Amino acid sequence: MPESKDSSLDVYQLLQEASRKRERERKTRFLQSIGVKEFFEEGNIGIDKNTCKGVECKLCIEACPTNALYWKAGEVGIEEELCIYCAACVWSCVVDDCIQVSRRRSNSGTERFSTQREVLTLLSNINSRKRMNRLKSRFPDMEAFLKRHGKWFFVS
Ligand code: SF4
Ligand code: SF4
Repeated sequence: MPESKDSSLDVYQLLQEASRKRERERKTRFLQSIGVKEFFEEGNIGIDKNTCKGVECKLCIEACPTNALYWKAGEVGIEEELCIYCAACVWSCVVDDCIQVSRRRSNSGTERFSTQREVLTLLSNINSRKRMNRLKSRFPDMEAFLKRHGKWFFVS
């Protein structure tokens, strides 16, 4: 009996999922072996070859913690399987919008950045969020906060 179109599609999807799972496991094993923690399961990275300073620069290659970037035949190559979307390369790049990184957090959607300024803003927002969460865990409401620290606001 000839195979229906739908069932062949299912098999194709299953094979793709199995291959993605294998890639993910390989990546996890590699990152564990070099002691790098992965925070983002999904992301993308691209480099604009037209604006890249290439051989005069290579700062992104030096900054990458996983060797996902390398020098190949006159340009920066990307081994996307090794990328953890940390943005260290964007932070180190001397050209705005040359490297573009996007990544998805499980709890707060997708982040995109391609300039040092955007990475700095992101880091500062993350730090502020962490400080707020720490504050909230210690002082669940304003009353608790003022009870502990209120006197400092009223000292003249
Ligand atoms: S985002 Fe991080 S891991 Fe990926 S290429 Fe840039 S520096 Fe390397
Ligand atoms: S840091 Fe930026 S300009 Fe320099 S090699 Fe990497 S991508 Fe090119």
